[in-house]
Amino acid sequence: MGGTVKDAEQPAPLEPIWYLRSIPYSEYRQSNWWRQRRARYRSGHDSVCQRCGIASVSSRDKTVSLDKRPRFNVHHVSYENLGDEPDCDLELLCSACHNAEHYPESAAAIWWTTVCLPKVEKVRAAMGRQ
Ligand SMILES: [Zn+2]
Ligand SMILES: [Zn+2]
Repeated sequence: MGGTVKDAEQPAPLEPIWYLRSIPYSEYRQSNWWRQRRARYRSGHDSVCQRCGIASVSSRDKTVSLDKRPRFNVHHVSYENLGDEPDCDLELLCSACHNAEHYPESAAAIWWTTVCLPKVEKVRAAMGRQ
């Protein structure tokens, strides 16, 4: 039509909960609600994987190239409260741990859990962390 002014300041309208619970999860992940909920969860938590403890690199740190930065996903521990998740239903996971959670049989997941994680744990133990 033309002439539509996009107002970046305007927050996207949130979908009602009955709608969020009626759509497939693949669509749910694209919803305005989930984008906003995920951002709120992340802003309230350190960007550290809750499984392996890997930390995100600050976007201001230019010494680590973009493709080497760990990526993070907000994972649903429970899908019971879609559209109104309490923090305890969510978990911040690096993409390797997230993949291992969803596709434990995949070659990447097996490599991550059997080869990488024990090394990560050794390093963390040596650093005096739990
Ligand atoms: Zn992890
Ligand atoms: Zn997940």
